[in-house]
Amino acid sequence: MKGDVYFAEKRKAMVEEVKAKGLASNPRVLEALMKVPRHLFVPREYIDMAYEDRPLPIGYGQTISAPGVVARIAELLDPQPGEKVLDVGTGSGYQAAVLAELVAPSEAPRESWGHVWSIEIIEELAEAAKSNLREAGYIDRVTVVVGDGSMGYEPEAPYHRIAVGAAAPRIPEPLVDQLTPGGRLVIPIGDRFVQKLTVVEKGGDGSVRVWSDIEVLFVPLTGRYGFREGGEGFEKSHLTL
Ligand code: SAM
Repeated sequence: MKGDVYFAEKRKAMVEEVKAKGLASNPRVLEALMKVPRHLFVPREYIDMAYEDRPLPIGYGQTISAPGVVARIAELLDPQPGEKVLDVGTGSGYQAAVLAELVAPSEAPRESWGHVWSIEIIEELAEAAKSNLREAGYIDRVTVVVGDGSMGYEPEAPYHRIAVGAAAPRIPEPLVDQLTPGGRLVIPIGDRFVQKLTVVEKGGDGSVRVWSDIEVLFVPLTGRYGFREGGEGFEKSHLTL
């Protein structure tokens, strides 16, 4: 039976790989990656691959994102302790746990904790993610909801940071609307075959600055502002890249 020490060693090598690839250098992000037990977020049959820098299937045609990309999103978002985060596309719950470790560090007093709301459109995955988050010790810092996250999650808005873990044709306006002034959104934007991690920063005056980071390949965002049968399911946006 492989134990905590075995997995911690594997995790250390994974963090070194992410660092060497230049995907993350922020010590807080690297520490968060070192803390979250990714092997508890992958299906049992893939447990030996949990610390390879690659996505893995989680059922329903979906994947747990590669740790390097999860780290890159966290690095670009740079969430601070105490902040509110929305994570769109819960999948396994791994990205949500890494973000939770940044806004609500395990060693910090609970009163200082921020919170992550994570929204997943496939109910069965949301349930599985909840059980992963419970087992890994993050259930008090992450609230998983079922719904179309391409429209954000209005009941808890605004958010300091929003992470989207699925590819979209354009930047969904509701997500920008649900950012606090000074808030930041990271979302893969492109077609179904290649996207760029795109950063959207909302200024204090409500103005918006957009820039692109690395190329990535994500599963499509579905729902109102995602990809639809027959092309882009997206009527209007003033934020076209
Ligand atoms: N970040 C996740 C993790 O660490 O496991 C992986 C995300 S997975 C690549 C993309 C997820 O987005 C899938 O679980 C998919 O069902 C979900 N998804 C796609 N469109 C969605 C939408 N409109 N609202 C909410 N979730 C959506």
